[in-house]
Order: sequence, then structure tokens, then C-alpha cells
Amino acid sequence: MLATSKINLRLSITILIACAFELILQAQQADQVFYNGKILIVDSNFSVAEAVAVKSGRISAVGSIAELSSRLGPSTERFDLKGRTVIPGLIDNHMHYMRGASRWRFEARIDGVTSRAEALKLIAAKAKAVGPGNWVFVLGGWSEQQFADRPGGFTEKELDVAAPDNPVFIQKSYTRAYMNGLAAERLSRSSRISPSGRSQERTRGSSGGRSFSTREIISRATQFLPQRSGSERAEDVAFFNSVLNRYGLTAVYDVGRASDGDFTPVEELAKRNDLTVRVFHSLRYRANNSREADEAVSLINASKPYGNNDWFGLIGMGEHIYNPAHDSSMRSSIFGDEIWNEFEKLARAAAEGGWHIHEHAMQDSTASKILDIAEGLNKEHSMHELRWTIAHCDLISRENIERAKKLGLTLAVHNKTAKPVIEGRDSPPISWMQESGIVWGLGSDGAVVSTVNPFHTLWWVTSGKVFPDEVSIRTPVSREDALIAHTRSNAYLMFKEKDLGSLEIGKWADMIVLDRDYLTVPVDEIREITPVQTILGGRLVFDVEK
Ligand SMILES: [Zn+2]
Repeated sequence: MLATSKINLRLSITILIACAFELILQAQQADQVFYNGKILIVDSNFSVAEAVAVKSGRISAVGSIAELSSRLGPSTERFDLKGRTVIPGLIDNHMHYMRGASRWRFEARIDGVTSRAEALKLIAAKAKAVGPGNWVFVLGGWSEQQFADRPGGFTEKELDVAAPDNPVFIQKSYTRAYMNGLAAERLSRSSRISPSGRSQERTRGSSGGRSFSTREIISRATQFLPQRSGSERAEDVAFFNSVLNRYGLTAVYDVGRASDGDFTPVEELAKRNDLTVRVFHSLRYRANNSREADEAVSLINASKPYGNNDWFGLIGMGEHIYNPAHDSSMRSSIFGDEIWNEFEKLARAAAEGGWHIHEHAMQDSTASKILDIAEGLNKEHSMHELRWTIAHCDLISRENIERAKKLGLTLAVHNKTAKPVIEGRDSPPISWMQESGIVWGLGSDGAVVSTVNPFHTLWWVTSGKVFPDEVSIRTPVSREDALIAHTRSNAYLMFKEKDLGSLEIGKWADMIVLDRDYLTVPVDEIREITPVQTILGGRLVFDVEK
């Protein structure tokens, strides 16, 4: 009797141990294993792995195929990377996302197209797709210099040939506009711009076509964009996200304006688990004068920063906490005390409320003022904790990079698609940033002044070139440093360093499989790299074969 119960007890214990072991194995079993790749983890050692395992959307193991074999279970999905290079999903630290999302569908985009003939073909194809009489827009993301076959703007005649039955409106950054005859006719009918006014402005063009320098023309033309309902806006956002996924982007920081549209459609997609890009944004308000700045202070005091989860939400303020302090790299912009006093009022409210600021500063004089204010506030509010970001930094000095570093600030650098080279200067001076050890990250500033393609940005900072073959940065950075700036450093800029920016264990499995090896292709090919797959939290959100 006693012997039997002893045997039973032993048996039960054995079964229990077996069950526990099974449970441990199951817990270890990955949902997905990606193997047979050259996976750039982008950790502090810049290590490279053959395989990664994913559990509940996050990286659960990194190593060789042999090391990860214990993670394979009956329900594990296996992805053969076929020797391809994998990098963490790219993060754009500065995009006018809602503006891009609301327009992209109605545009013929010519980002990165280096042949004029090809660009005209794309415009013709879009005209055909939308049907006669409907508008075709190209709203930025390109420059006149990018066409190797024949640089320059578009003439009315060539646009008429490309799209004889459609009004075509083409915007270069916010400085130029080109259009065909039908578009000019509709614009003159709809606005106060008289035909004679048009021909006067026409003489200002550089291309021989109708070239306008006024923002007014641009804003009038974009009024012809279709009005969208709530559900249509959600579709537009989902569509734009699919475009960004195709470029390898998995997270963005929208630092745009209130007029770009609210985030309701993004929130809706987030609720439905249909977001394929993590969308973070700044607080939306309008502050063009002292009264509006006071209203903004009330809003800041009544709002809470960092209202986000890992998919969507608010980070901080920017890119203009006070609009009149908007400078340009093309002209010196010295603002008076009346502007900086308002700026400081808003910066103080931000510091007191614990807000992060991401602030536009192209000129060194603007960076100096922001640093003066940040240094003053640092006595009571730790800038190391607030991590304010100075954005663009086109002309920042070594001295101001050092000041920013000492304060614990970060720098954000943005793509040059359309801006001309600044003679005799590395603009922005990324090698100084790199040498100083400050955290600096890359963004596009797209979709109007620049292309949103992150590989264009990576090409720019590693080759130092802008279209067509001009040197913009004499001392570029290494491919590794550029990749860190577009991934891990951006996660830090956005307070997401525990969850995003590298493929280390515990972080979200956001990664892209590339069509060629980023680390070894000739530098001019970096611009042409295209992802074949984009994975967000372990989920395939883009596959070139589908
Ligand atoms: Zn800006």
C-alpha cells in the first residue's frame, strides 16, 4: 500500500516537472523566428546576428541559427531572410505627417526620380488614373536639380503635352510653382489673380514656364484638393502609412501645425489596431502674437505631455513653440526682444509643465538664443530630463553644439532635397555633432520641402552629396553612425529608447529587410535601397511580393 502511494507520488512529481518544463518551453517558443540574415542590431556594439526571435511583438532572442533553435515550436512562424540585410525600422524625427497623409493620394510623386522624361510619364499616368478634368498635383518632395537628363522646372508646354485634359499643379518646396494651361485657367477663374497678373509673374520664372514665387498661388491651388469625410481621412492615413512602410519607416514624429489637420483618423486606426506606422506628434496650437501666446500657455498648463502609448500620441511641443521665431538658412534672421520674450514665456511654461520641445533653428543666432533660454531655465528645470531638441541645425557652430551637449539637449538634422548648398560650409555640420558625442538624429522634414524617403537622407549624410552630384557636406559620417542617427538616436529623441530604435531583446520587433546590403553597396546606391519587407511589432506590414 505504502509502496504504491510512493510510486504514485513519484509519478505525480515527474509529471509535474514535465509539465513545468513544457510550460517553460512554450513560454520560450517564439511567435516568429527570422533567420539566415545579416541582422544589424544597432546596439552599442553595433553587433550583427544571423537570427532574431519574436514573442508578442517584441524581440525575445538574438543570435545564431543554432542558438535560436530552442525557440522554435510547432506554431512558430519561420521567415527565411535568404541572406539579406535587416536593419531596425527607420524612425523619422521630423515630418509634417498629417499634411503628407491628407494629400499623398492626390499627387503624382516624383521623389528621387532622376529623369525628367520619367517624371513627366508619372504625371501623365496620374492624369490618366484620375480621369479628364481632374486635378493632378505634385506637392513637393523634389527639386529642379534632380533631373540628370535636363535639370530645371517644368514648362507649361511640356505639362500640356503630358496631361492635355487635366489641370496640373506642381509645387517645389514653398518657393516655386509650375502649372499647365488648364491649371492656370482654373486658378485665374477662381481667384483674384488676373491673366495679366499671371503673365507678369511669369517673367519671374526661371524655367520659361509659368513659375510663381508666391505662397498665395500654392495655397489657392491646394484649395482644389478634394474635401474628405472622416472615414475617407482614415483611408488616406492608412494609404500614406503604406507608402511610408514601403520606404522602411515604422515610426514618425509629426511636428507640424494645427492647420495640417487633427489626429482623429490616426487615433481611429490605432483603436482598430490598423496602424502600420507608430505616429507621435506635438501639441497643436497657434501662436503668432502675444495674445495667442498667452492662450497657448493656458493650453500647455491644462494639458499633459507624453500622452502616448507605443503606437500613437503626444510627445511634446514644436517645431515652432512661437511662430514668429521661424528662421531660414538662406538669410540671416535676427529676431527682436519682443519675439524672444514671447518665446521665453512659452519655453518657461513648457519647462514648468515638464514638456519636451523640438524647436526649429537653422541659423546659429537662433540656436544661441534658444540655448540662452534653456540655460536660464536649467537652474530650476533639468534640461537633461527634458532633452529639448534643436532641429535643422543647418548653420550651428561648434560652440553651440558643445553648449547643447553640456545641457543634455539633442540635435535633429533634416534631409536636403531642395535646399541649395551653402558655399564653404558643411551644412549641417554633422561631423562636429558626431565628434562632440551629442545625441543627434535624422528626419526628412517631408513631404513638401523634402522627400520622405529615409534612404535619401542616409545617402546624403554618408556621401555628403545633394542632387545631382554636388557636395553639401565635405566631411560625411560613417554608414553605422548614419543608421544609428535614423534609429536608436531618434528613439532617444522621442523618449522611446526602451521600446524602439534597435533590435535588442525586449524592444518592439520593428525591422526592415533590404534589397541590398546597406553596409557594402557603393555609397551612391544607398539612395536606391528599397525594403523588400517591413515588419512592425513582428507583423509583416509590407511585402514587395504582395
Ligand atoms: Zn523646420
